[in-house]
Amino acid sequence: MLIVQKYGGTSVGNPERIKNVAARVARFRQEGHQLVVVVSAMSGVTDSLIKLAKEIMPLPTEREMDVLLATGEQTTIALTAMALTAMGVPAVSMTGAQAGIVTDPVHTKAKIKNITPKKVHALLDAGNVVIVAGFQGETPDGLITTLGRGGSDLTAIALAAALKADICQIYTDVDGVYTTDPRIVPTAKKLDEISYDELLELASAGAKVMQSRSVEFAKKFKVIFEVRSSMNDNPGTIVKEETKSMEDVVIRGVALDKNQAKVTLVAVPDQPGVAARIFKALADATINVDMIVQNVSHGTQTRTTDISFTVDKPELLKARKVIEGLQATVGYREVLADEKIGKLSIVGVGMRSHSGVAAKMFETLARESVNIDMISTSEIKVSVVIDLAKAEQAMRAVHTAFLG
Ligand code: ADP
Ligand code: ASP
Ligand code: MG
Repeated sequence: MLIVQKYGGTSVGNPERIKNVAARVARFRQEGHQLVVVVSAMSGVTDSLIKLAKEIMPLPTEREMDVLLATGEQTTIALTAMALTAMGVPAVSMTGAQAGIVTDPVHTKAKIKNITPKKVHALLDAGNVVIVAGFQGETPDGLITTLGRGGSDLTAIALAAALKADICQIYTDVDGVYTTDPRIVPTAKKLDEISYDELLELASAGAKVMQSRSVEFAKKFKVIFEVRSSMNDNPGTIVKEETKSMEDVVIRGVALDKNQAKVTLVAVPDQPGVAARIFKALADATINVDMIVQNVSHGTQTRTTDISFTVDKPELLKARKVIEGLQATVGYREVLADEKIGKLSIVGVGMRSHSGVAAKMFETLARESVNIDMISTSEIKVSVVIDLAKAEQAMRAVHTAFLG
């Protein structure tokens, strides 16, 4: 069988762990399987590279950022290939570009356009374990790109699809997908299975166990995968298409995103076209906006309103610059930014057929004296923006209320 395995940052965090990964890979190979192994940068490396860049330039040029960040994964592929070679297992490393991963030119969050894994196939057929750098690709013009934070998950899922792999395994530092982050809520329970849609909502709500774009890709190309631990042999969580019985559970999981910031434009003229101008400018700068709230307008002569929206924290500086550039054309009184927010979400396909879910969440938050700042809902998700200082307490209370 052809198996694609992915090992995250903690799993390759030091030489000992890299050797453990190599031992696991060798075991699968001895059983007669072909293996493609995607690795992340060693834990902490990507963060320190970003910090380094910011010491040189507060808003680093994105082209060079990608050249810099890609070095993290390039280190790990070489070390992992060496560890296997040292054990007598033939192994070769490949960068994303060498593995045939072609992306669009949106630096730091490029999308995969196509994969031509001819060389991967050739190296596999010659008897090698192929170690591929996660998180990176190249544009058709040959520029290095990266796939957004957590993007090694996407490399693995996309390669599994392109190679038509029989099995795709995502190895990480927890036993699988839990009802919520087991590091924050000790009563979190491991799930045996979860649907693409639920994991997609949980991931985009901040559960960093899988990169949300990788789950989207898996759903589109019907890649069934397993999330499991690189530290033991416990069975993990199977991620697949929704089945009928999944609807019996109202809430599958709770997620907290501490990586969002809120921007508020105060006293914006309440006229047609204003919101379009603001969000078009943000979109043109490739900034992803998540929640948007517009207040009831105030004033009698010239009516104005406040518009708030959330962005990923690392994009706050860029978003502010874009908004400041609109002062003359849009005309608002001031811009406020708040980084001390948390977005708490509950997710479950069962919400479609059960009522009162949002009310129960709001009641739980009220009991904890947590004020709700913004609300958004989808068919299978309710999200609220709350004070960061109370976010983990709120997360535990909401988890207990719905999941015990
Ligand atoms: P990797 O480096 O292997 O990609 P990540 O740190 O990106 O690992 O993701 C794994 C982490 O995700 C876990 O250590 C855990 O703290 C966190 N996490 C958040 N929500 C969940 C959840 N619902 N289930 C499991 N882990 C979660
Ligand atoms: N090294 C990258 C990151 O830290 C990609 C990944 O780990 O998946 O975001
Ligand atoms: Mg990750």
